[in-house]
Amino acid sequence: MHIRTRFAPSPTGELHLGSLRTTLYAYLHARHHGGVFYLRIEDTDQSRLVSGSAERLMKQLQSVGITWDEGPDIGGPYGPYVQSERLAMYRQAAGQLIAEEKAYRCDCSPERLTQLREDLSARKLPPKYDGHCRARTDVPEEGSVIRFRISENLSKVTVSDCIHGDIIIDAATLDDFVLLKSDGFPTYHLAHVVDDHAMMTSHVIRADEWLPSLPKHALLFRAFGWEEPVYAHLPLLLGAKGKLSKRDGDTNVSQFLQWCLPDALVNFVALLGWNPSGEQEIYSREELIAAFDVTKVHSSPAKVNFEKLEWLNGEYIRRMDPDTLATQIRTRVDTGNAENEFFRRAVVLEQPRLRRLDAFPQWYFQPYMQEAPLAWKKSTLTVAKERLVELRAFLQQLATWPENPADAERVVKAWMADRGLETGETLWPFRVALSGKQTSPGPFELAWLFGKEETLRRLSYAIERGV
Ligand code: GLU
Repeated sequence: MHIRTRFAPSPTGELHLGSLRTTLYAYLHARHHGGVFYLRIEDTDQSRLVSGSAERLMKQLQSVGITWDEGPDIGGPYGPYVQSERLAMYRQAAGQLIAEEKAYRCDCSPERLTQLREDLSARKLPPKYDGHCRARTDVPEEGSVIRFRISENLSKVTVSDCIHGDIIIDAATLDDFVLLKSDGFPTYHLAHVVDDHAMMTSHVIRADEWLPSLPKHALLFRAFGWEEPVYAHLPLLLGAKGKLSKRDGDTNVSQFLQWCLPDALVNFVALLGWNPSGEQEIYSREELIAAFDVTKVHSSPAKVNFEKLEWLNGEYIRRMDPDTLATQIRTRVDTGNAENEFFRRAVVLEQPRLRRLDAFPQWYFQPYMQEAPLAWKKSTLTVAKERLVELRAFLQQLATWPENPADAERVVKAWMADRGLETGETLWPFRVALSGKQTSPGPFELAWLFGKEETLRRLSYAIERGV
């Protein structure tokens, strides 16, 4: 079988975590099998369209490195890839079903349908069209919809899903659903079945929310006499309390990319409900493609743990080359007029602990402010300042400034040993003189970061004004 998968977003909003996972799985499945992954814009519900949404969705996919082989922007052999440009095909398909008496026109008024729903609900029955127009001989035309005719002889529908297995549905629960609306636009049910057939989709990978409609889709494929694609309905994403929602914060991909590396986000999302080994947490894109197996996606909902995303992002940060990391941070954080070399060094110092790109400590770029006391524990300010005076004299006469923090440590510690100076009493004021903070990288890192001139300037400031 030639593998063809698709992402079929409705352009009604932003790309969120759930839709990113859907896309990613469809993409990984196609790439794993050397197949085609395509994009189709499902804009038939005209009342819900959000202008610019399709373009933003595409941009966001690009920003996380998900590429498609066919789509509205690049075309392809089965275009157009926008449903509102394919209306003639849906009308023709609905017409074919009418001709074969597998569909019929219905002009029940909205008032009648509302009344019907209310009556059923009062009797605690599920909403279901009563087939009022099924057997009419006078054919309604203007303003009518086209409904699918569920055969009276049908007792059950069996559908199959490669994550959930076989599902058997009592046909009595299905009603004659609408295929074509009165505005001439198709419903999702008709449009995607026509398209998935015409576009040769081999696997429909989509969110669980569509599972209840699967019997309708299966019946449509069967009515047309078309082969059904393989279905994979992805389980729900769970937040802190139930279904992932706004309560759990903004889950739009664009929000995550403000602080997270695209590859870390993709790695994280790939493992929401699937893990090839159960042990390994970090997968390159190539590894994900090589390992992906849609049939191994768990059928139970996946809990989204944002703490884990931060941790994973930190792991990706650790693996980056400092210059690339510096570029990523510069676009997200106000680094004032920090010079490139200074900024690069600050990045090297923070790289071992940074987890969010937008959380780079600001004090590096701000005027010095002493927040921690110079005196070490039970020692005194006088002793601290004495040590700083000696240290300043020693550093001042160094002919070459240490080339890295380890060098600085070696030089200063040798001098301290020589002079019999105690670690806390010397290095605590040294570090506070440089950063001013209760916690910061150590004094050797900071001396390397600032260089000779600024280190001496800060020491002098602490000696004169430090508290
Ligand atoms: N347009 C549908 C949605 O956005 C697509 C569902 C599908 O992939 O079939 O949910």
